[in-house]
Amino acid sequence: MTARAPIQDPNLLGKSAEELRTLAQALGEPAYRGSQIYHALYAERRVEVAQMTSLPAALRERLLAESAIALPRIRKTYRSADGTARYVLALDRGGAEGREGSRGSATIETVFMPEERRQTICVSTQAGCAVDCHFCLTATLGLIRNLTAGEILGQIIVALENNRDTLKPQTNVVLMGQGEPLLNYDAVMTAMRILLDPNGMGVSPRHVTLSTSGIIPGIERLAKEKVRPKLAVSLNASSDAQRDEIMPINRKYPIAKLLEACREYPLRPWEKLTFEYVLLGGFNDAPEDARRVARLVSNLRAKVNLIPWNPGDLPYQKPDAARIEAFRRILSEKGVPVFVRYSRGQDVLGACGQLALLESAPGSLTQISPAGA
Ligand code: SAH
Ligand code: SF4
Repeated sequence: MTARAPIQDPNLLGKSAEELRTLAQALGEPAYRGSQIYHALYAERRVEVAQMTSLPAALRERLLAESAIALPRIRKTYRSADGTARYVLALDRGGAEGREGSRGSATIETVFMPEERRQTICVSTQAGCAVDCHFCLTATLGLIRNLTAGEILGQIIVALENNRDTLKPQTNVVLMGQGEPLLNYDAVMTAMRILLDPNGMGVSPRHVTLSTSGIIPGIERLAKEKVRPKLAVSLNASSDAQRDEIMPINRKYPIAKLLEACREYPLRPWEKLTFEYVLLGGFNDAPEDARRVARLVSNLRAKVNLIPWNPGDLPYQKPDAARIEAFRRILSEKGVPVFVRYSRGQDVLGACGQLALLESAPGSLTQISPAGA
């Protein structure tokens, strides 16, 4: 066999169909072998080259020697009484540029939430986050680094494989773990194209939601994508003064401009925008706040998800049940579709960022004994 240059980036996971076709050709194979790798990896979730039996043995051997399918490693599993599994995943070196240009290993969190007819997987798009929302534990980590497309997809594959025997027919994915997805735009969208491709992972765009703190240029870019997930925007406050206080990003992208970008966002016929509103007890959960939120979203095709604050080591409070219900009722009476979303798995450190903090500073939080691996 003639000597060929080694594969530049040996990790198959995260590569598009086109990239895998090019890779196949670089190995002296016809391009369609790349399409077969794509299908085996994403549609059939064959996460070992040896299982890719549609490929000729010689190609499998070549791939085994020269490439890798680098999945995040499960460092810990916390299983909740409600069936939720929270994973602490370790990522190897080799990620995209992060703090000071480093390409370090990192720890992230992924959550698997089983329901009666489906599972929802909550994935991280960055290790840590630079946005600095004051109620969010991930913010206290700062940005460690961006995740690659392979690391974003890898979380979904690990969560599905780890629950293989109890999977339901439908999978929902929410980009609501660590990180701001629109500040890691290219990797996130590369992963989304593979996730939403019927020949790839085949998840329906109706079942995938990207949540942003309101990065307007990212929303404008997403608006132009042919293939994209649904959009959720973290509003979290009813006025600029209030939002400035808990989300410094509001000074750059204030509410009026953010809502303008939302108004211009081209919704598909079946689609609604989601506004998330974290209820912080005594801070943004008053009836006047509810009335202001109803006014803000009144001319948008949108629903509001109320998320009672999930406590962590931060100076905020959970809202009480009566205030949550009053807030919900005001929005509902004003004709805004509204839902209360409680975080799942609260008995295993439900707030995102909590597990990673625990890993980086053991003892800084009350440890709950891990039930899994
Ligand atoms: N960075 C993106 C996505 C990750 S955060 C964003 O901010 O939208 C996902 C959601 O969790 C956001 O709506 C955020 O406001 C919310 N959130 C963060 N910390 C929380 C906490 N402790 N309790 C409840 N919701 C929280
Ligand atoms: Fe980042 Fe979202 Fe947390 Fe804000 S709420 S710090 S954007 S992860």
